[in-house]
Amino acid sequence: MRVIREIPLLRSVLPATEICLVPTMGNLHHGHLALVKEARLHAECVAVSIFVNRLQFGPHEDFDKYPRTFSEDVDKLEAAGVDVLFAPDETSLYPARQTVVVTPPPFADDLEGRFRPGFFHGVATVVLKLFNCVHPTVAIFGKKDYQQLLVIQSMVEQLNVPISIVGSEIVRDSDGLALSSRNTYLSKEERTEAPALYAVLRKAARRIIDNPGDVLPTCEQASQELTHRGWRCDYIEARRRSDLGLPEREDSNLVLLGAARLGNTRLIDNIEFNTAPSAAL
Ligand code: AMP
Repeated sequence: MRVIREIPLLRSVLPATEICLVPTMGNLHHGHLALVKEARLHAECVAVSIFVNRLQFGPHEDFDKYPRTFSEDVDKLEAAGVDVLFAPDETSLYPARQTVVVTPPPFADDLEGRFRPGFFHGVATVVLKLFNCVHPTVAIFGKKDYQQLLVIQSMVEQLNVPISIVGSEIVRDSDGLALSSRNTYLSKEERTEAPALYAVLRKAARRIIDNPGDVLPTCEQASQELTHRGWRCDYIEARRRSDLGLPEREDSNLVLLGAARLGNTRLIDNIEFNTAPSAAL
């Protein structure tokens, strides 16, 4: 595996074959490695990027304490058979203040955007920059960050970026907790409680499947259940999968998205489901 930190060097190292890129912020876990495995199916050359992107963090968010475990990450990617690791430092990717930014589509102001203003501007901008550095034909994103996946899909469609975006399934721990670099912030007690987010989402999705007219009260109830368990819930919302719009009666492909804080740690998760009769979770 070639580890490249400089953009000009990257250009000389990348092969002329098709490239599949997996953008990450490092502190790699099995969720990231599942994306790498998926990438293998799409191109001869698999490239991973590691870059903790200041632009997508709010002023009071966890940019400084975000876990950085570069040498362990290199070992994991090497073992996974990755061809190129692009890990630019800040001055290489942002040599000057980034004043040109991507404006994400309006649905980016909703859900995560309501609680993390500017987040998707930062995400879309860095992803486009990484695309322009690596020139992949395919890029893989996790459904764990469901809204992010849709923002990137909209960006490539509307800006005619010639890259196919592939969404990869959420990887969970055996107790249901979605793997996340931020899980490392959880205390032992919080880690025991953390799977409740997914459990509550599953229960709510089941209820919506059984009573499709009860979307709003079900989401409200789910949010209250988390509050009673000691969480601070930012949102639990059922949306249309295609565009994250509010579901109409005829919409059956839905996703239930949740974000909530446990102590100082903010976790997000989601579950896709179908309200057609006999749907399974
Ligand atoms: P991050 O390093 O957290 O920015 O994540 C990099 C990529 O990995 C994003 O596309 C995430 O959606 C994806 N990802 C993170 N956690 C998981 C997970 N548990 N399962 C699947 N994909 C994930």
